[in-house]
Amino acid sequence: MGSNGEWGLGHQFYFSQSPITNHQSPMTKLFLPNTQATQQLGITLGKNLTAGSVILLEGDLGAGKTTLVQGIGKGLGINESIVSPTFTLINEYIEGRIPLYHLDLYRLKPQEVTGLNLESYWEGIEVTPGIVAIEWAARMPYLPDSYFRVCLKSGEDGDRQLEITAVNCQMIDNLISS
Ligand code: ADP
Ligand code: MG
Repeated sequence: MGSNGEWGLGHQFYFSQSPITNHQSPMTKLFLPNTQATQQLGITLGKNLTAGSVILLEGDLGAGKTTLVQGIGKGLGINESIVSPTFTLINEYIEGRIPLYHLDLYRLKPQEVTGLNLESYWEGIEVTPGIVAIEWAARMPYLPDSYFRVCLKSGEDGDRQLEITAVNCQMIDNLISS
């Protein structure tokens, strides 16, 4: 972790004490020791993110992207079980505080993504604004103006390391509370 702080003991997960910041984009690193920690972080995001927020999720198969979105669903108050949209491409959940749009671009090529008009989700055109969570976001040929970029990596002991960067948007203040 170097000069930006040692891993500190968080509530459910370890937390890098001070966000690493460049001009525009504050970045926070989290250590997620188990599935519950990933879910708990999702719950915090689901409770705090505003409508129109976009979360671009990157990480290998099994890194925990869907697990995080399941937590977001819980934090929004969605009771329906959130399943991977690998085959459906988009799953929409409207019973929570704000809608959740969960996408998985794994099976698509960037040129196929263009035809999906993804911007209608984050611009709220013909769609009620909500949280847009996109797995395999590296397949996107274009990006929203503002978004959270989340990268998940497996650690040596079966844990996960997560980096969250707030690009042109406000970082959630305290990712380890609430
Ligand atoms: P992805 O959507 O990235 O392919 P999934 O969320 O479907 O990944 O699966 C991730 C697997 O890893 C699940 O079995 C989940 O229980 C587990 N997992 C999630 N977060 C952690 C964590 N922090 N530590 C250990 N295992 C985790
Ligand atoms: Mg997945």
